[in-house]
Parts: sequence; C-alpha cells; structure tokens
Amino acid sequence: MREDFKSGFVTLIGRPNVGKSTLMNHLIGQKIAITSNKPQTTRNRIQTVLTTEEGQIVFVDTPGIHKAKNKLGEYMVTVAERTLSEVDVILWLVEPTTFIGAGEQHIAEQLRKTKTPIILVINKIDTVKREEILKSIDAYKDICDFAEIVPCSALKGDNTEDLIKVIMKYLPYGPQFYDEDTVTDQPERQIVAELIREKALRSLNEEVPHGIAVSIDQMKARNSRLIDIDATIICERDSHKGIIIGKQGAMLKKIGSQARPEIEDMLGKKVNLKLWVKVKKDWRDSDFLLKNFGYDIKKM
Ligand code: GDP
Ligand code: MG
Repeated sequence: MREDFKSGFVTLIGRPNVGKSTLMNHLIGQKIAITSNKPQTTRNRIQTVLTTEEGQIVFVDTPGIHKAKNKLGEYMVTVAERTLSEVDVILWLVEPTTFIGAGEQHIAEQLRKTKTPIILVINKIDTVKREEILKSIDAYKDICDFAEIVPCSALKGDNTEDLIKVIMKYLPYGPQFYDEDTVTDQPERQIVAELIREKALRSLNEEVPHGIAVSIDQMKARNSRLIDIDATIICERDSHKGIIIGKQGAMLKKIGSQARPEIEDMLGKKVNLKLWVKVKKDWRDSDFLLKNFGYDIKKM
C-alpha cells in the first residue's frame, strides 16, 4: 500500500435534474471502473469508482434525502443519516440561482446535522453570467458550513478537474479499496449484500434501530447453473441477533426467501443461499461502511 495514496467515500446529493448523473459521468470519464450496468443496481449504494494517481474516490448513494414527505419509513432516514455521517465528503449540487427553494432548504437542514465536510457544487455555470455565479455563491454560502464552494459545468467539463482536486484534499490516506483487476466480480457481491440487507431491513422494520450490515463470505459456482452463497448479517447487539433470527429461525428464513429470487434474477442462476447472524460490537464507522459493501476487512 502506498503511503501517500488517498481513498474514501463520497456521496453526491441534490435535487433531481441538478446534474448529478452528468457530473458523475464526466468525473469518471475514461479513467475508471464503473460498478455495474445492471438495472437492479439502482438501489445499490455504490455508484462508481474514480481512481487517479493520487487516490480513489468511491461514490456512494444516499437514499431518501429528498423524499422526506413520502412515508419511506424510519429506516430510510436512518440509512440516509448514517450515510451522511459515514462518508468522507458530501458533494451537494445546486443550480446557479440566488433563490433557495424548499427542496434545498430541506437538504440544508439534513446537512447541518453532520460533521462531514460538505463541498457545495454550483453546477451549470455555463448557463449564467459570471456575476450570477458570484451572486449564487453569496446566496448559498451561509446556509451550511461548507468546506469549499466549487462552481462548475458538468456538461462542458468546466472546473471539474479542480473539483476532483478539492475532493482529494478532504479524503484520508488509505488503501485502494477497488483493484481494477477484480472490479468485475465486486459489484455482484455488493448487490447481493445490498439485496439481503434491503430485505432484512424491510422485514425487521424498526426493531433493529442501529442498523445492520451484510458481508458475503463466499460466493462460488457449484456448477454452471448453481451458485452457493454464504452471507452474514452483522448487527451490533445480542438482543438484535435474536430478533434477526426470529422464532425457530423464522425471520432469517423470511429474509432469505425474499432475497433469493431477486439474487437469482440478477445472476441468472439458481442460488443456494445460507444466512448467518453475527454480533459485532463497537464497530468503527468505517468498518461498518465497508462491511455494508461486502468487504472483508481481514482480507484487505
Ligand atoms: P440529475 O437528475 O441530478 O442526475 O441530473 P442529470 O445529470 O440527469 O441532468 C439533468 C439535465 O441537466 C440534463 O439535461 C443535463 O444535460 C443538464 N445538465 C447537467 N449539468 C449541466 C451543466 O453543467 N450545464 C448545462 N447547461 N446543463 C447541464
Ligand atoms: Mg440522475
């Protein structure tokens, strides 16, 4: 591991149409490993990985932040809040306007609760005059405690190189999570983990308030039609373990039988899914995050 290599998780938030996808596509350009092209990954929290000489940025999705009015349930809010506090950098994309609408106010409210460095990205600067950009910066600068404000045009690529530099500035030194050579295998594992996690959260409702993570311990083809998958649902308390297993294993069975068909659909193969539950107290946040994405820290 190189000592001066940086790596970390970055989430990109902002209202629909503000240019998140465009920016992501532009940033990753040609240099990258994209996570997955499967439509089922829309719920997967990892979106893309950008690897440069200097470091590796793993973009993750924050669900639910714009959907405060829908009854999405506590857990989505918990996931969103947790994500915001676990990532290393938050990118908040806005339009180059001076009017701050209700949608933006809501996002700002969420952001004020976290200590994570926030970079305000004023996008679409190609559509306004220079003075307007300055006015927009002025309108936004006090709404949150921003680490940086970066105007750019995701469409034209103006100032996006600088944005990458600014992001790197806030990333810790760390390992390269994604090896380019193995990246094709990783997304499937992540999606499998995420599918199990989603089914578990849905079945458990709010009974396990501190959240869970899923690690994929083994994923191996037995033959061309069948894959054996061993996965562990990790929780933080003994009492949660009992809830997750359920009476005579009923809850675990339910989670497995909901996740399995979707995993089979995704992989196009039959799946023999074995689920385990483990308690892991005092997780470091980063461990939790990595576990969520199906990494085994011990193997890194
Ligand atoms: P998302 O919903 O936040 O992911 O937004 P999209 O990336 O899908 O972009 C919404 C629309 O805004 C698309 O038509 C983009 O081409 C356009 N757009 C995104 N970034 C820019 C920009 O920097 N300048 C201009 N002029 N248009 C942009
Ligand atoms: Mg989009």
